Amino acid sequence: MDVYGLIGNPVGHSLSPPMHEAAYEVLGMDARYVTFEPAVDGAVRAIESAATLGVRGLNVTIPFKQDVLGAVEPAPVAAQIGAVNTVDFSTDPPTGHNTDAPGLVRAFEHHDVTLDGRAVVVGAGGAGRAAAFALAGEGMAVEIANRTTERAEALAGDVREAGHSANAAGLDELSALVADADVLVNATSVGMDEDRSPVPADALHGELSVLDAVYSPRSTRLLCDAEAAGARTVDGAWMLLYQGVEAFERWSGRAAPVEEMNDALRARLQSS
Ligand code: NAP
Repeated sequence: MDVYGLIGNPVGHSLSPPMHEAAYEVLGMDARYVTFEPAVDGAVRAIESAATLGVRGLNVTIPFKQDVLGAVEPAPVAAQIGAVNTVDFSTDPPTGHNTDAPGLVRAFEHHDVTLDGRAVVVGAGGAGRAAAFALAGEGMAVEIANRTTERAEALAGDVREAGHSANAAGLDELSALVADADVLVNATSVGMDEDRSPVPADALHGELSVLDAVYSPRSTRLLCDAEAAGARTVDGAWMLLYQGVEAFERWSGRAAPVEEMNDALRARLQSS
């Protein structure tokens, strides 16, 4: 039996197991997806132990996404983002990938959003870094707005260093930036389990496509405001789905059964 899984601390409420196990079932794979909760300083030991035990692949979540860089060979995008959420043990040393970035692109593609023109990314943490590199990598001019402006500046500098177009801003500049934008991503935690949006509602417009990385609730205040303004909306569960789809495909070399994975994810989201 092939073993895959997730390391995080805590991992109790992870949405990944039903999504991956749905894929194993549909494709008749003899595999299990297991959650592990190492001590917070145990990322490197966890990766080394998993390699020793023959684990095929691990997802990585908070607080280990940066620490595991010390135990893997990062793929170029993961190295740029500075965070790994998927480890592939078929190489020695294991390879570290970031599937949040391609997951975000595939979430937009699923909704027929063309990624060109201008993008505004709100947030400069882990999700913000993945979103900024993903959209810049697609050729978009990216504006990064963050509460802590220095963090936005550092990220914009990293994106420019990778040869892409990026600028930094404070949240007070959001209305002007969004007015000119084609794509908007909320990559802050604002709106998670609360009826609040990081973007003023009157800045939203009908030419925008808006993805909220927050997936609980699925219809965030930002997405409700965006819908009311006539914008196209993509909820955070689509990004979550496609980062899992990317991980599955990388590990197994097979096309993922996206519909069944999506059904399993949404069923778990509804029940949690
Ligand atoms: P993180 O690294 O901790 O970054 C948090 C970000 O939110 C920072 O930019 C922070 O700004 C900003 N922020 C926090 N509180 C704020 C407030 N009150 N007002 C304005 N900005 C605020 O977290 P993360 O890993 O990037 O995750 C961010 C969100 O994305 C979470 O809700 C997470 O669940 C979600 N996410 C979703 C997916 C998906 O697949 N859908 C994947 C990854 C993450 P400062 O820099 O100023 O602190």
